[in-house]
This record gives sequence, structure tokens and C-alpha cells, in this order.
Amino acid sequence: MEALVFDLKTKVLKHEKKHPMPEIVKDDDVIVKVAYSGVCGTDLHIMAGEFPARSDRPFTLGHEFSGVVHAAGPASAFRAGQKVVVDPNRPCNLCNHCRRSKYQFCAARANIGVWVDGGWAQYCVVSSLHVFLLPDGVSLAQGERVLLECAVVWRVS
Ligand SMILES: [Zn+2]
Ligand SMILES: [Zn+2]
Repeated sequence: MEALVFDLKTKVLKHEKKHPMPEIVKDDDVIVKVAYSGVCGTDLHIMAGEFPARSDRPFTLGHEFSGVVHAAGPASAFRAGQKVVVDPNRPCNLCNHCRRSKYQFCAARANIGVWVDGGWAQYCVVSSLHVFLLPDGVSLAQGERVLLECAVVWRVS
């Protein structure tokens, strides 16, 4: 598959045409075929080395994206073909931020597109916990847009 892969050590963003396809590892994993993936201010800060992110290996950026379920593990409630959006934040549910429902500030460092591979790729594997079904009548473009704008407005306000 194609992916935009970023290496924090060299600050180089590379378009790879033969990046390995993600695989279902855990039973509740979902592989999303990405339809829309936002470019957020945080991505620009990550690429400038101004925002903490994965540095031990190159990874795929992109933390606000929508798509269609491509495959789902046996313990997932999702099924192939469903339109979804992905919440990039992974709460630890133990720290003070998580216990106050402010899990976007959690420092557990598992966020999609920051610490694990994200949505600047044709396919992305995520836990079902991050996946939300888009209702009928909401397009994939609208879903991604709402996610991106909520995140940006939240940051600014
Ligand atoms: Zn963002
Ligand atoms: Zn936490």
C-alpha cells in the first residue's frame, strides 16, 4: 500500500509506494481503508520537531481520519464496509487527565498518528475502542471534517 512515512530523526517525510499492509494483531483490531485524512497543525509541529512523537522508527502520521472498515478481528463489533471515523486518543484510564475525562491530555503516549502508525496511508489498523460508526446521511468527508474541526477548535479555545 502507499503511505506517507515520517522519520523524526531526519525530519524527512517520504511517500512509500510499497509500505507493508497493516495486519490484525489483537482480536478487537479493525483495519480501516482510509478515505479522508486531515493535515492538522500538530502534524506540522511534529514535522518541525516541536511536538513530542515517536522517534525510534519512522512512522505514519495522520490522526484525524475517516474511512471504511476493510477487515475486523473476531472480537470487534465492526464489519467490513461500514463507514467510520477514528478517535486518535488512547486513554490509559489511570492518570488524573483520564479520570477527569480529559483523556486528550493523557501522557501514556499511545495516540494514533503520533506514537503509533496513523492515517496518512491507504490502510491503518486501530483498536475497536478508537472506532466510531458514521450514521447514514453523514459522508466520509463530513466525518473527517467534524473530527478535524472539533480537535482544532478544542485546541484553540
Ligand atoms: Zn490534530
Ligand atoms: Zn491517562
